[in-house]
Amino acid sequence: MERLFELANPQQIPPEWSNTPIGRLVEYQNMQRPFETYDTAQLLVGMCMDHRKHLRIPDQFAYIIRSGGADLRHSEFKVSFAIAIGGVRHIALIGHNGCGMVNLVGKRDAFINNLVEHAGWDREFAEQHFTQFAPMFELGNEIDFLICEAARLRKRYPKIKVVPLYYRVETNRIWGVRENF
Ligand SMILES: [Zn+2]
Repeated sequence: MERLFELANPQQIPPEWSNTPIGRLVEYQNMQRPFETYDTAQLLVGMCMDHRKHLRIPDQFAYIIRSGGADLRHSEFKVSFAIAIGGVRHIALIGHNGCGMVNLVGKRDAFINNLVEHAGWDREFAEQHFTQFAPMFELGNEIDFLICEAARLRKRYPKIKVVPLYYRVETNRIWGVRENF
C-alpha cells in the first residue's frame, strides 16, 4: 500500500509542511521533538474517538475534535469556531487503521443487542437508531474517506491548509497520505 508514506525523520517531512503546525505535529508525535511554549492554538486536529490513540503535543498547541472516523461533517460549527475565534489556519485530519466506523453493517447485531442489554434501550428503538444513523457514519475505507473528507474541508474553507494523516494504532506513529494515488 504505497498510499502511505513514512514520517520517521525530519527529511521525510514534505518541504511544504516544514515550519508549519503540521510539520510540528509530526515532529512532536513521531520524533520526540521537545515542546515549545504556545499561548495561542496553532492547529485544529480532527481525529477519531477511538480509545487507542493518543497525541504527544504541548499545552495550548491544538484544538481537537474527536468523532467517529475523523468525520467532521457533523462538527462544522466547531471547525468554524476553531478557525474564526481560535485563529487556526491549519487542519490535520487524522484517520487510523482498524477504524470501527468501517463495516458498521457487520456490527449491527452487537450494536442493537448491547444497547438493549447494557443501556436499557427498547429493541425496536435501537434497531431504528442503527438503521437511521449507520449509513451516515459508515466510512467504507479509512483512507478513501480521509482523502474525500480533506477535499471537502478544503472546498468549505478554501484559505485553510488541510492535511490528511494516518495514525497506526500499533506504534502510535503518524504516516503521510498520498492523495493522488
Ligand atoms: Zn476510528
